[in-house]
Amino acid sequence: MRLVFLGPPGAGKGTQSELLKRRLGVPQLSTGDMLRGAVRAASPVGLKAKAIMDAGQLVSDDVVIGIVAERIEEADAGQGFILDGFPRTVAQAEALEELLAERALRLDGVLELEVNEAALVSRIEKRVEETRAVGGVVRADDQPETLKARLDAYKVQTSPVSTYYDQRGLLYRVNGMLPIDTVTGSIEEQLAAMRAVHQQELR
Ligand code: AMP
Repeated sequence: MRLVFLGPPGAGKGTQSELLKRRLGVPQLSTGDMLRGAVRAASPVGLKAKAIMDAGQLVSDDVVIGIVAERIEEADAGQGFILDGFPRTVAQAEALEELLAERALRLDGVLELEVNEAALVSRIEKRVEETRAVGGVVRADDQPETLKARLDAYKVQTSPVSTYYDQRGLLYRVNGMLPIDTVTGSIEEQLAAMRAVHQQELR
């Protein structure tokens, strides 16, 4: 299956897409992880992206689309993938559609995790506390000011992506406010709904 996970920072995309990756046996492609890897490696992309990421803003569409175009060519993505953190702008969503169409492929669906903003802030604060408690390094972009910038970027630049997919009949919403297991169950139900649509199309 080829899926997109949509949802603001702290919505649980990482947790749920990790679980889903194991169940579906397809890789989870997180642009955030790929960019953090590039920053660690001090590659040209990483050098360009670091300051933007630290400020909680979005890296340019060209850079991110380039990374995803290369990644979906890799052998492990041949049977499908779960995109986590991409697309984050309508331009990225359009580029993804083109990349897939060039390969005669398309998305099966887009799962959107819905949560309210107050819950997001407290979840990320908890992630910061838990990381500190085990002596880990807190993500620079989880600091309160940066988090606010990330939430703003989501509202302004990424919310329209949800409308984009809704208009194409690809959007499947999940209430992300419930306990992790319940959310996982709702995702399973939405995947079943996606499969039913495809079976109808095949008839
Ligand atoms: P994430 O781990 O998904 O929260 O991403 C961390 C940061 O990486 C974001 O705040 C952005 O600065 C950058 N980033 C990740 N994915 C994208 C994307 N699709 N478009 C632009 N910037 C991105």
